[in-house]
Amino acid sequence: MSFIEKIFIDYDNLMLCIILGFTVLTISILYIILHKTEEYERFRSIKFYNIVWRWNWMSNKRVVSLWCYCPECGSELTCDDESCRSSNVLANKITYFICQKCGEVEKSRITGGDRKYVLKIIRLEILKRVNENSYKDEVIK
Ligand SMILES: [Zn+2]
Repeated sequence: MSFIEKIFIDYDNLMLCIILGFTVLTISILYIILHKTEEYERFRSIKFYNIVWRWNWMSNKRVVSLWCYCPECGSELTCDDESCRSSNVLANKITYFICQKCGEVEKSRITGGDRKYVLKIIRLEILKRVNENSYKDEVIK
């Protein structure tokens, strides 16, 4: 192998190393940017209507897996929104939240609509606090 050929082979290897290094660096930076945890993502529970609400965050401030829990025993609550189907009057549309573990006790009630409506208003309250940056005072420790 001539001296000239050796220089070209080394040059190719050097370029390959630079390209590989650059690729790894780019992927690492992108990974860090995409997986950066926003501060609001630590805000994952709040007390509304005397019951505890918990949820997870997806990208773009999307609230997922939102549900409510008993403030006394921490169990998942069940809800009864049967009255919403039988009435067209908003004041008569009531969703009851019941804790089976505490002996089928009513823990809360929300007037105005069924469980879909309730989840929608709770979601709006959560996002309002994130957008106003006021959630930090309300985070349940
Ligand atoms: Zn309970």
